[in-house]
Amino acid sequence: MASLSPRDKLTILADAAKYDASCASSGAKGAREGNPGLGSTEGMGICHSYTPDGRCVSLLKILLTNYCLYDCTSCINRMSSEVRRARFAIEEVVSLTVGFYKRNHIEGLFLSTGIIQSSDYTMEQLIEVARRLREAENFRGYIHLKTIAGASPELMRKRVSTPTD
Ligand code: SF4
Repeated sequence: MASLSPRDKLTILADAAKYDASCASSGAKGAREGNPGLGSTEGMGICHSYTPDGRCVSLLKILLTNYCLYDCTSCINRMSSEVRRARFAIEEVVSLTVGFYKRNHIEGLFLSTGIIQSSDYTMEQLIEVARRLREAENFRGYIHLKTIAGASPELMRKRVSTPTD
């Protein structure tokens, strides 16, 4: 299979993420294609969430990968689904997040994923994205990580330092 550009991956993995139920705006119908209008919420890649102090923040909403070991019937990313597949490298997610953040397109990251290799391996990949954002990039924006079913409790409790720690 030909290797995908980061833009191709973003197209596939932002689109795949819209099925990850999290907020009202990411899957809502807005203006019709070819007739965009005010208030359109159509499109992919950006969703919204609320911080503990009540602010609404825009998030880059993507999957790390839409490959998955499992075959859950109602999931578009199930193993037997004939969708295009892609997988971001950790560094690509970090770079995209920081890039969009610096251009003022987002205030944080919503990262979900299919399950690859094992629940622990997949959870470690997500945590590593957060760790690099916080510790290497000094990123202080909002981060929402999916918790992977079956991942070990130690991983769930793992702490990622924030720049103020
Ligand atoms: S484990 Fe998650 S991503 Fe994989 S098929 Fe089931 S619902 Fe979809």
